[in-house]
Order: sequence, then structure tokens, then C-alpha cells
Amino acid sequence: MGFFNDLGKKTTETTTKIAREAKLKMKITENKGKIKDTYEEIGRKIYESHVREEDINIKELVNSDCLKIDELSKEIENSRKEILVLNNKKMCKKCFAEIERDALFCPKCGEKQTEEKTILEKAEEKLEKSDISQKNEKEAEIVEEELKEKNNQE
Ligand SMILES: [Zn+2]
Repeated sequence: MGFFNDLGKKTTETTTKIAREAKLKMKITENKGKIKDTYEEIGRKIYESHVREEDINIKELVNSDCLKIDELSKEIENSRKEILVLNNKKMCKKCFAEIERDALFCPKCGEKQTEEKTILEKAEEKLEKSDISQKNEKEAEIVEEELKEKNNQE
């Protein structure tokens, strides 16, 4: 029984991880596209006001677009961080090298690594773990049912 449970757990964890990473990468690509569109929008606005020979306040004209880019960039950064967490990696604060999550020192620059998880990150991790274990329970139930059926047939 234990063997089947462990097997189910491993498979589910891997599948969840791969799916989550693919989703995050898609989101990054999507956000990069949105940023590019916003840059274009900024350029178009400025050019149009040039054509119309308007006296423009650039800050006012493109402020919302710039805020949008800020927001999208932040989302990209968060997605990248989450991918690192998924792969049990983190980023060295000093040299930004990708290093093992539990590394105490950066193998590249030697910087001491301090615990950097925010409350939000901790909550998210907890949520994700509970999500995974719920799925595992379901999977374990299915395996159990299948085994029962097999036993009944024999
Ligand atoms: Zn480093």
C-alpha cells in the first residue's frame, strides 16, 4: 500500500510542478508581449501628438502606460522567483546567480545566504503544499479503489 501511495505522490508532485512551471513561463511570455505593446502605445501617443503639433505633458500622456509596465515587470519578476522556488533554487542576493535553495553560501561569490521568504511567499508555499496533498489523497483513494476491485475480482 505504502509503495502505491508513494508512487502516486511522486507522480502528482512532478506533474503539478511541470504544469505550474509551464504556466508561469507562459505568463512571462504573455507579459513580455504586453510590455512590448505598451511601449508601442507610448511611442504612438507621442508621435501622434507631434503630428498634431500639440503641446503635451509627457508625464500625463503616458503615466498610465508606464504604471502598466511597472506592474507587468513586477509580475514577471514574481513568476521568475516562483519558478526558482519550484526547482528548489533561489537567487544569490549579491551576484544573482541561481543557487540551491538550501545553500548557506553562494558557490559563485561566497555571499552568506539569509532566509528571505516573505510572509506572502510562506503563505503561498503552504497553500501549494496543501493543494498537492489534497490531490495526493484523491489519487491514493483511486489507487485504493482499484486495488479493492482487483481483490474482489480474484
Ligand atoms: Zn553570489
